[in-house]
Amino acid sequence: MLPKQRKIAIMGYRSVGKSSLSIQFVEGQFVDTYDPTIENTFVKTTKIKNQEYDLKLVDTAGQDEYSILPIQYSMDIHGYVLVYSITSPKSFKIIQIIYDKLLDMAGKVHVPVVLVGNKKDLDMDRVVTQMEGQKLADSWKSVFFESSAKQNECIADIFHTMLMEIEKANGNTVVQ
Ligand code: GDP
Ligand code: MG
Repeated sequence: MLPKQRKIAIMGYRSVGKSSLSIQFVEGQFVDTYDPTIENTFVKTTKIKNQEYDLKLVDTAGQDEYSILPIQYSMDIHGYVLVYSITSPKSFKIIQIIYDKLLDMAGKVHVPVVLVGNKKDLDMDRVVTQMEGQKLADSWKSVFFESSAKQNECIADIFHTMLMEIEKANGNTVVQ
């Protein structure tokens, strides 16, 4: 079988760990200081049940409540990993704004999304409960994970689930 080409955008407020998640998944390491202003595309090949995927991860420079999303985000992106930090209420608010803008732009009622509450290891600084994250994802009919890019917790699950959500959106049956 030929590899499937998939392009995924990582979005969210600044400093939530978008680059750290991407680098942890692609390179298997936690980088403590990564230029927050650059948009980078990472590539990785991954295999799920005999199907190979050539993944492109677009690690965006981040969005805030005033960001206008570039139109290409609605055109050649198959799915979106939307990230907030469990230590930042603002990042949680902004992820909802980003989601609404994405739907508007796509002109659809459903786009493949995985919601991620990152920095799970910083539980002492937690301000967003797991239940709040779960509820938001339920309202979007999407999957939710809490992750730690630092401790490599749930990182592979996020991207594998993202690929399966894209399959579903394409009308393919997914056996978990
Ligand atoms: P981005 O702006 O969303 O790309 O965020 P970065 O990946 O650059 O991360 C911002 C800061 O948060 C950096 O200092 C990271 O080391 C830190 N960080 C990212 N993910 C985690 C995590 O899971 N746990 C902890 N403790 N720190 C993290
Ligand atoms: Mg970054």
